[in-house]
Amino acid sequence: MTISYLNLKRQYAHIDKEIGQALEKVLKRQEFILGKEVNAFETEYAAYLGTKYVVGVGSGTDGLLLSLLALGVGKGDEVITPVNSFIATTLAITQLHATPVFVDCDKDTYQLDVSQVVDKITKRTKAILPVHLYGAPCIIDQLAQIARKHGIYLIEDAAQAHGSAYKNKKLGTFGDINIFSFYPGKNLGAYGDAGAICTNNNILYEKIKMLHNYGQKSKYIHEEIGVNSRLDDIQAAVLRVKLRYLDGWNKKRQRKVDIYKNNLFAKYQEIIQDGVSNYHILSIEVEDRNKLQKFLKNKGIQTLIHYPVPIHLQKCYSYLGYKKGDFPIAERLADKILSLPIYPELKDKEIFYIIDQINAFGKNILR
Ligand SMILES: *Cc1c(COP(=O)(O)O)cnc(C)c1O
Repeated sequence: MTISYLNLKRQYAHIDKEIGQALEKVLKRQEFILGKEVNAFETEYAAYLGTKYVVGVGSGTDGLLLSLLALGVGKGDEVITPVNSFIATTLAITQLHATPVFVDCDKDTYQLDVSQVVDKITKRTKAILPVHLYGAPCIIDQLAQIARKHGIYLIEDAAQAHGSAYKNKKLGTFGDINIFSFYPGKNLGAYGDAGAICTNNNILYEKIKMLHNYGQKSKYIHEEIGVNSRLDDIQAAVLRVKLRYLDGWNKKRQRKVDIYKNNLFAKYQEIIQDGVSNYHILSIEVEDRNKLQKFLKNKGIQTLIHYPVPIHLQKCYSYLGYKKGDFPIAERLADKILSLPIYPELKDKEIFYIIDQINAFGKNILR
């Protein structure tokens, strides 16, 4: 049996007709930039989330950059962010010449450890930029409280968390500005790069609409130095089709996760109370992780590691002066975690095959 980590062809086989029709509509209209599809998707995604405004942008990373830009984050400012994330979260901060101030993660939820945040706040702190890692919520209401109390901004990196919720409220609606990625492999994925920014704040909304479109207020009139980063109509058309399936797909993922958890006794990411994950990533902690990964590869099973090198140990950030040992939990996790195939179209018998192979490798490696 061969099981790839993700198989988008199976998803496409279910929706190919609808996608074809949606694309054809755009092609007939020949309207590709800031057209009807983009508008419609922004409205529909805002309604889905329960937020006032959505602006489609070129990618999740661009969404982060534009959010920080809109909040006026720049040189000399500090942004508190988890060390255990995909690097894009930090890239946006350093692109604007601001300083990332890293926080270690919790050993059970893998999320930014909220108890370490207040100590990191200084006069220069402009924002907290937490991540909902693997699509599960971090303790976002506490972070919102901290941000409010200290007069700093909160930006949710919900790039992995489409449809996830905390206390019956969708993730991506708690911060001042929040972002999603529609990278093809995300739970809601476009057919290319795409992302979105969400906010309830009218002033920030207007600012982002301007900034993502060359900083123009009206055609050829520029009040701010902007960028070109827009969701295009082709991608919006794809996302509109897929958005209708998102909840169903997430439910299927939940069912697959239940099969794993009921049959493979391992240490999984803990989901906080009142939290609902979309299970973008399902990982287990394993001793001898690299050996198991190789073993599974030989059995036809592809696995990934999210993420093998914590951000503070990446070469590109050596100038920040962090060293090994600074964030022991994230560093330990990076050596132990292994992400298993988890997608709506994964067959039950494939999951049981994966479980059997892991158990064959040795149950004692699971923690
Ligand atoms: C995917 C991802 C991003 C970046 O999104 P892109 O659309 O690929 O630019 C940012 N943060 C996290 C946590 C992600 O998983």
